[in-house]
Amino acid sequence: MTEQRDQPEPLQPLQPLQPMPTDWQRALAVVAHPDDLEYGCAAAVADWTDGGREVVYLLATRGEAGIDTLAPADCAPLREAEQRASAAVVGVSEVEFLDYRDGVVEYGLGLRRDIAAAIRRHRPELVVTLNHRDTWGGAQGGGFWNTPDHKAVGRAVLDAAGDAGNRWIFPELLTEQGLEPWNGVRWVAVAGSSTPTHAADAGPGLERSIASLLEHKAYIEVLTDQDPAEYVRTFLTGNAQQAAARFGGRPAVPFEVFPR
Ligand SMILES: [Zn+2]
Repeated sequence: MTEQRDQPEPLQPLQPLQPMPTDWQRALAVVAHPDDLEYGCAAAVADWTDGGREVVYLLATRGEAGIDTLAPADCAPLREAEQRASAAVVGVSEVEFLDYRDGVVEYGLGLRRDIAAAIRRHRPELVVTLNHRDTWGGAQGGGFWNTPDHKAVGRAVLDAAGDAGNRWIFPELLTEQGLEPWNGVRWVAVAGSSTPTHAADAGPGLERSIASLLEHKAYIEVLTDQDPAEYVRTFLTGNAQQAAARFGGRPAVPFEVFPR
């Protein structure tokens, strides 16, 4: 009896990732910080906008607490400019900021309401966010602890996809801002999840995702002693190759997709 209990659970073989849905026109990507989407899924975004789809970025903060040597008041405009430049590289011209304070974003009704308002304004079929779980990696134990902002924003995005469609949850969005309910979100796709279900081809957009992340110059320069271009290429190519093992050998951007 006891021998059996002492045995670790057998590891489940990893399932192949399903192709991302393609029958949609508008996506809204909502994350905590500048660079979250560039690290997470810009190759997929490049491919989507190339295919004529519209993608809008919404950032909860300006990432002003991200550079130790730069005070937040100086850092915020710099990181905002870098974010707009990196979005443009992958065909995204609309970038909005909610102006939450970087590092201390809390999950709550205010955050859900602000994200629901953005979903009603942009009326996306696909909503994208970043890993909302406690850890990075470690689907079968271990992993790195996630940051409070990523967890708060990711969870609020998953909830706001439903809030946006219900006229009674935040009625003031209609009465004060004239935003009609939008119940058209069909999927929320979480990038950077340790339990992905789907993937987008990274091949066509990979080079542009590298150029996109490189636009975060000030941030990357303090992050690594490596040559920025080499660091970014190694990181993004490595991630795409890792996902390829579950996507027919094709470099891929994995997502955990929650259908609605
Ligand atoms: Zn982040």
